[in-house]
This record gives sequence, C-alpha cells and structure tokens, in this order.
Amino acid sequence: DSLFSRLSPTPADEPFAVNGAYIQDTYPDKVNLGIGVYRTSDGSPWPLRVVEEAEKQLYQASDVSRHEYLTIQGDREFLRLASNLVFGFDQEKQAQAEENKSRVVSIQTVSGTGANRLGAELLTRNLRPGCVWVPDPTWANHHTIWELAGVERKSYPYYDSATKSFDFEGTFRTLSSANTNDVVILHACAHNPTGADPTKEQWKMLAELCKTKGLIPFFDLAYQGFASGNLEQDAWAIRYFFNYNPRLEFCVAQSFSKNFGLYGQRVGALHVVTSTISEEVSQNLLSNLCHLVRGEYSMAPRGGSEIVRTVLGNETLKEKWYEDLVTMSERIRQMRQALFDELIRLQTPGDWTHILKQIGMFTYVGLSEEQVSKIRSKHHIYMLKSGRISISGLNESNVKYVAKGIDDVVR
Ligand code: PLP
Repeated sequence: DSLFSRLSPTPADEPFAVNGAYIQDTYPDKVNLGIGVYRTSDGSPWPLRVVEEAEKQLYQASDVSRHEYLTIQGDREFLRLASNLVFGFDQEKQAQAEENKSRVVSIQTVSGTGANRLGAELLTRNLRPGCVWVPDPTWANHHTIWELAGVERKSYPYYDSATKSFDFEGTFRTLSSANTNDVVILHACAHNPTGADPTKEQWKMLAELCKTKGLIPFFDLAYQGFASGNLEQDAWAIRYFFNYNPRLEFCVAQSFSKNFGLYGQRVGALHVVTSTISEEVSQNLLSNLCHLVRGEYSMAPRGGSEIVRTVLGNETLKEKWYEDLVTMSERIRQMRQALFDELIRLQTPGDWTHILKQIGMFTYVGLSEEQVSKIRSKHHIYMLKSGRISISGLNESNVKYVAKGIDDVVR
C-alpha cells in the first residue's frame, strides 16, 4: 500500500484536456478551437519575426555569462522595460516618470501564471484578505491559484448572457457588498473566456468603487497589444487606476506568452503599485517578494526574458514588434468577421453580432454544453464546454466548415 493511495484525482485542466483529445483525433478535417494559442492562417504556431531576429543576435553573441543565474528579482533591465510597457512611464515627463516609477515594485515571474500565484501569496500572507472576488466566468486557473493560497473565493456576475456583454450593473452591485481589504480580480483587457470588456466609463466607476470600499484590485494582463494591436489601448484601465486620485494600491500580473508568442519560455512580471513613495516600503516589499520566490524556485528563467529585453531595448526591433502585434490582432479580427459573415450567409438562427463586438483571442460563441458536445462528436470541432472558442484556431480553410458545424448544432 502506498502512502499516496488515499489521494483522490484532481480535475483535469480543461483547455489542456481538450487539446489532448484534439491531438488524439484522427479525423482529417478536425478543428481545434480549444487552447488559447496564436495560429497562422495555415494553422501553425508563429515564432514572431522579431523574436527570431532577437534570437539571432543573442545566439551569435558568445557571452560566457549567458547561462549564469539571474538575481532573485530577475533581470532588472527586462523589468524596467516591462513596467514601462504597462504603465507608460517612457511617455511621461521625466520628473513625473521618476515619481511614478518609485510607486512600483517589480519582480520577474514564471510568466503570467507565476505572477498571479506570487501576487496571491504576497497578499495572502501579508494582508490576509477576507476573500477574493473573481469574475464569473474567469480564466479557470484563477480559481486554482487562489484555492492554493487558501483564500475564500466569491464571484461577481461578469457576463450578461442576454446582451452577450459585460454585466456592469451586476458587477457593481455585487462588489458594493465587498469588504475593505478584499481582493478583486480584473482582466485588464480581452477578458478570458468571454472577450467582453468594460467601457472606459465603467472602468472609471470601478476604480472609484475600489477606492471607496478599500478593495485591492488585482489586474491580470495577459493580452497587452495582442488584443487591439495597440499597447496603450490595452493598458488603458491599468493606467487609469494608476493615476487615480486619491491613490490606489494594486497588483498587475503581466504575461509575455501571447504578445511575444513565447508560451513555453515562461516570461512575465509581477508589479505591485503602492500609494506612498517610500524607499523603506519598496525595499521591504521587494525583499518579501524575493523571499517567496527564493523558497519556490530561486528565480525566473532567463531565456525568454532576454529575448523580450533585446526587443524592447532596441527601437528598430520594437517598431517591428508593433507590426507583429498588428499582424496577430488583425488576423484574429478578420476571422471574427469571416465567422460572422458565414453564419449570416447560412442564416443560422440567432444574433451573432457579439462575435464582432467581443475582443481578443476568445469569444463565448453562444453554444450550450449539449451543442458543444454534439459539434465535437459529429464534426470534430473542439472547444471548451462553456462554448468558449479560440478565434485563432480559425482560418480561411476551416471557417466555413466551423460555421456549418455551428449552424447544424443550433438548428
Ligand atoms: N491570465 C489569463 C487571463 C490568461 O488567459 C492566461 C493565459 O491563457 C494567463 C493569465 C497566463 O498565461 P501564462 O502563464 O502562459 O503567461
């Protein structure tokens, strides 16, 4: 008898499980709309052109230190560039930028997941929040992360299935009953899984609510530049919260998986924004973060962060990266349009305008669990049981087939 024989199985992670089932399927016209990764118009992964250029530069340089340890905090130049990207410090007047920068403590993480996890650990151990408010629905890993942190999870109604958009009234009403020191998870842009975001006016009211109720916002930023093709636009909410007066304190979990196509490299950062400008507070905060990281994995990996640092630190490469962001976000926008057009052409029952209105990689297409199961068994089209589809799995050769499949299961 094993010490472990009493363990019960844990639920499989759905996107990875759906992806596994797709790989097993031998049907030639199968379509994978499950996992959230970018695909080109021929269905292949896309190492960004600018990443390939940075790799060439890095691998040509025979620096004997290239495999040395990073510091526990990570690569400081990478962190400086990464926080500029989020908060836009490089677009501010110097004195203002210096003051603003001193409100942020940053640490390199094992991508966005690691940043969420580290932030959860930091807040749980030091601030002991009464609960964490997660949007319903949300990226499923938010639940796992906060469950592991041992914090009670409560949800706020994020999605209005009648209007197929963000449920502002429900969110506002629910969060009005939250208590001081509760954490609120907010998707900075391109909400996963629904693709529905608050408007600027709604973000403003949410910032005010967080301030008056004493809530701790926790932004998850996994799609900056990837969602709209515009880095400023996708960081708008975070920058608004940053500049809110009186000052707010909050966390930002930044991922470079999607916007740099560096999924397996695990590149990210956690930024903690403080209200006071105090060297002592910042140092203590950083030392606490470093302590947590040291005990978990010592430091984040350096391979991917060097690529990001190389690109963001070079004006020419940065310009090319902006073009790559437009390439990816445009292709996704075109596929939204193509799917919509095809459903209209087929006169598929229902209103499909949400496909065009929602933003980013995902859309809640509007199929029931039963229809999702049917489209998979009958047409070999894979998606999450909530009806979330990854638009990036669509291309010119399969979009008609997918629309036909949807048409078939909703009739
Ligand atoms: N947060 C959200 C909302 C996501 O959709 C993802 C990726 O799918 C992540 C965080 C983090 O991904 P990674 O750990 O690859 O950066």
